[in-house]
Formats: sequence, C-alpha cells, structure tokens
Amino acid sequence: MSERKPDDAAPIVRMEKLNKHFGSLHVLKDVDLSVIPGEVVVIIGASGSGKSTLIRCINGLEEFQSGKLEVDGKVLEPYGKASKALQQIRTEVGMVFQQFNLFPHLSVRDNITLAPRKVRHASRDEAGETAQRLLDRVGIADQADKYPSQLSGGQQQRVALARALAMEPRLMLFDEPTSALDPEMIGEVLDAMRELAREGMTMVIVTHEMTFAREVADRVIYIHEGEIVEQGAPKEVFDTPQRERTRSFLSRVL
Ligand code: ADP
Ligand code: MG
Repeated sequence: MSERKPDDAAPIVRMEKLNKHFGSLHVLKDVDLSVIPGEVVVIIGASGSGKSTLIRCINGLEEFQSGKLEVDGKVLEPYGKASKALQQIRTEVGMVFQQFNLFPHLSVRDNITLAPRKVRHASRDEAGETAQRLLDRVGIADQADKYPSQLSGGQQQRVALARALAMEPRLMLFDEPTSALDPEMIGEVLDAMRELAREGMTMVIVTHEMTFAREVADRVIYIHEGEIVEQGAPKEVFDTPQRERTRSFLSRVL
C-alpha cells in the first residue's frame, strides 16, 4: 500500500537459509526472507511455528546457528558473533512486543526519551519535543506525564510504538502487538500501525488479525513448523492458498 520501487530497492532484510535450534528442537528450517524498503510483510502461522523466533533473529534477540542474515547492510553472524553490527542493528530496528515492556518506573515521556538521550545523546529538550510529537502522532498527546500503570493497554502499546519510533528506525518489527489487548483496544493500535504503513515504514508484523493483514500487507507469509510454506499478496494467500497446510490453517482462523 506504500509507494516504493521494488526493482531498484536493495533489501533491508536479507535472510538466506537461516537455521535456528533450541537444543534439539529445530525451530527455523532454511528460512529465506527478503524485505525491501517500504514493504509491509505479515507473518502468520499457528502457535509454536517459529514466528517470534524468526523476527527476534532479525534484531539479534535470538542467535541462529547457520545461514546468512544481513540487516540494513550489516551482517549478523551465527552464534551471536559480531557485536558491533548487532549494536548498530539494535539502534536501527524498532520492536513492539505483545507485552508492552515499558519501564514501569518511568513516565511516558521518559520511556520515550531514554534511548534517544542515552544512545543518540539527544538533549532533554530535543528528545522531549520528539516524544511529544510522537505521542501526538499515536493519539495520546495528553498522557506524557503519566506512568504506564495509569494507562489502558491500548495506550501503553501506543507508547511502546512511540518509544520505538523515537529512534527513527529503518525497520519496525511487531510481535503480536494486539494479542494482549482487550478487544475494544485493538482497533486503536492497528490504526496507529496502519498510519505508519501508509507513511512508508518498512514493517514485519506477526499477527492473528487477518482483516488487518489483508488490508495492510504487501506480502503475507505462512509459516508452519519453522518453514515458510507459502507466501504472496494477501489476496492470493487468503483467497486462493496453494498448499493444503495453508488452507487448513486459514479455515481454522478466518
Ligand atoms: P510462535 O511465535 O510462532 O508461537 P516461537 O517462535 O515462540 O513460536 O516458538 C517456536 C518453537 O520454539 C516452539 O516450539 C517454542 O516452544 C520453542 N521455543 C521458543 N523459545 C524458546 C526458548 N527460549 N527455549 C527453548 N525453546 C523455545
Ligand atoms: Mg510468538
């Protein structure tokens, strides 16, 4: 849904034959994944299929054992080596989790300004202005002085989004951002994500919100037991899935 030129854009994520094990459990099996700037990729699949592990590998939260992984031109080595690239990637890739993971002892404003001040050495005023602008953008401009526990789940998740955006990420990862929310709060978070997609942010999103996926995704990837079974435009994957596994998964969730 965003403006982009697929042909001349170098991928921001370039994953080739990535394998990840937890002990004897083979969680990701020869996963190939390229994401180009401006692309919105939605990953779907059953619980335990490896969706979280896959996106956590992209910002180095999980190490992998074999394969190639390059994020924004920086190479992540197997077994978590090359810590300089890892540090760079962590500052360039924003992540929003299912459990908002806000710092409970910090105000909303301080949650958002912490990383820009510590990592980017932004001044208090400068970081504060950015925080205010971002809070405005996610629709909670009047909440800056509150603490996370004083906010609803939907508001907390929007703070988490603003906090990630404060680092001006080149790529945003979302791991089931609405799964912990009461139903009436899901819409406000999806709206903020929709807006971000419209502005051209590169996004990889794990979600069970199929209506949202259909509307926002440029590409939907179905993963089953650590393997990409099927991928394509949402219309293709949802309306005419080619593989039996995809059909059976979709019949359960749609
Ligand atoms: P999903 O996000 O699709 O539900 P995950 O990526 O969380 O799946 O998990 C994939 C598989 O890896 C599951 O079998 C899960 O139990 C296992 N797993 C995930 N994290 C760990 C871990 N830290 N240690 C051992 N096994 C794990
Ligand atoms: Mg998960």
